[in-house]
Amino acid sequence: MSTSERTYIMIKPDGVQRNLVGKIIARFEERGYKLIALKMTQATPEHLEKHYADLKGKPFFPGLIKYMASGPVVCMVWQGLDAVKTGRVMLGATNPLASPIGSIRGDFCLAVGRNICHGSDSVESAEKEIALWFPDGVVQWTSALEGWVFE
Ligand code: ADP
Repeated sequence: MSTSERTYIMIKPDGVQRNLVGKIIARFEERGYKLIALKMTQATPEHLEKHYADLKGKPFFPGLIKYMASGPVVCMVWQGLDAVKTGRVMLGATNPLASPIGSIRGDFCLAVGRNICHGSDSVESAEKEIALWFPDGVVQWTSALEGWVFE
């Protein structure tokens, strides 16, 4: 576990349409994570098929690609201590109804097929996803707060 661990977080089309971008960003900022890449894009089905390659063959895969390509997404890389695992805890479970109150999915959504936000599930998949969505790399910067967030 390192203070420079990175995770890929993506606000899905329903999160954008429901004006939840600011609230989701605020949760990561307020927790102490550092934003090192950010963009809005409307992804193509081909790009999304690469992102979700592990799920190809699942019955919900075609619907998932259609949903994810239906509008713009907000792509982010957040850095900080235990970013991958803690990012997933902040998101909640895949099914919003199984997500604790206080998590993003537990507070803002109800249906598994409209669960507003993606977060990498391992350091390895975070690296792959960051390379896929930010092929030109991330922004390395020093936050003046770092000494107050980490010992
Ligand atoms: P997570 O996003 O929590 O890592 P998965 O990788 O298992 O979950 O699935 C990717 C996405 O596919 C989910 O976030 C959700 O949008 C969608 N999904 C998963 N399971 C279902 C399902 N049973 N029905 C519809 N959509 C699903």
